[in-house]
Amino acid sequence: MANVYTNAKKLIKIATSELNLSKTLSKKSLLDRLKMPDKTIIFRSTLQKDNGEMEVYECYRVQYCDSLGPYKGGIRLHPDVNLDEVKALALWMTLKTSLLDVPYGGAKGGIPVDPKSLSKTELERLVRKYTFTLGSNIGPNVDIPAPDMGSSSREMAWIYDEYRKHHGAARAVVTGKPIELGGSLGRKEATGRGVICCMLQGAKDMQLKDYSVAIQGFGNVASYAAIELANQNIKVVAVSDTTGNIYNKDGINILKLIEHKGRNGGVKGFDNAKPIQDIITCDCDVLLPCAKENAITQDNANGIKAKLIVEGANGPTTPEADEILARNGTTIIPDILANAGGVVVSYYEWVQNREGFYWEEDKITSRLYKRLTGAYRKTATLSEEKKISLRQAAYCIALKKIAIAMTARGVQ
Ligand code: NAD
Repeated sequence: MANVYTNAKKLIKIATSELNLSKTLSKKSLLDRLKMPDKTIIFRSTLQKDNGEMEVYECYRVQYCDSLGPYKGGIRLHPDVNLDEVKALALWMTLKTSLLDVPYGGAKGGIPVDPKSLSKTELERLVRKYTFTLGSNIGPNVDIPAPDMGSSSREMAWIYDEYRKHHGAARAVVTGKPIELGGSLGRKEATGRGVICCMLQGAKDMQLKDYSVAIQGFGNVASYAAIELANQNIKVVAVSDTTGNIYNKDGINILKLIEHKGRNGGVKGFDNAKPIQDIITCDCDVLLPCAKENAITQDNANGIKAKLIVEGANGPTTPEADEILARNGTTIIPDILANAGGVVVSYYEWVQNREGFYWEEDKITSRLYKRLTGAYRKTATLSEEKKISLRQAAYCIALKKIAIAMTARGVQ
């Protein structure tokens, strides 16, 4: 499987072929600046398990680029986490914040651990150790973590509390917190809602009618995207997670599926749906890959039946698959736009923490939709004007803003 960081840099190189920059910063300087992260922090965390045994983890925080503001990015807890994956995710975060006009740079963190393999107290010790070791490398004006795969408001509460012990209370040090600790209403739903907001724009532009949707993954992003689809009466015909893939051409009842997952730990065995071999190539009009990177590759791209793909996950499509899908006439709404709802509401959480004044959910959601719709329209307009893909257009808009900021700051 292609290295995800190599893929991320390849996508940037492809996108810059259409980028017009001022004379003060050449494309080469921009690419050189983005060739490697500003800072890569690798450290050991030793966990004492409940039974007294020790486990050692190699932990990461990658601060990719801070041209537009303090670093911002999630923390992934997954057994496959590795340094190149974290670098790729931090690079994409740099582009995402730029595209969405959120005043942050890009970062990402990770621990190669299966959180389900640890007890709650073990996981808490590990997350606290991670936070303690990062020390003043994180902070409200330095680097602001958030949830990603395998982490949620619970882990963010531990990060907030551990940071507070050593640096004083600062709610804005981390976003995605529980509401009672200064989390924002609408944050946990934000990424999934944003995916559907972008999907609706894309489907309207393509004049899709009565379309069916398949969703890969059924975690935070996917389940809130699915709820939003159910609210809009749009048929979800297939869902998958690590337990299995299920299909019903007449539509899956999402609220019942959520209850089923709560009881059984996954989507497998849900009544009124049959198991299928593969979700990526199943019969559907719209595909939402909301699990992990490299889900769509040159091996399965030609089998995809969906006319529209909306990337809820980061990096689900390899550059080779991107080319195949472009040739086949499939439209892709890229990750840095489609899943940006999370960082947008994280930004609103950070602002609310600093103001000490909390907004109502409808205000947050309407601001989220306005910002995402604006970014989608800018991207679609450039894509049409230049006859380039939505991904290339989104990258061009994001990179251009970063280049302007770099030049203005005199950092080249
Ligand atoms: P999560 O841990 O809550 O859920 C991940 C889901 O994917 C689970 O249902 C898991 O079973 C499933 N999955 C994993 N591997 C799979 C596979 N091979 N096939 C099918 N299903 C598989 O994670 P999440 O927070 O929903 O994140 C999912 C993706 O969205 C990641 O790429 C993440 O970086 C991206 N993302 C998340 C957020 C956020 O706010 N949580 C924001 C932006 C982007």
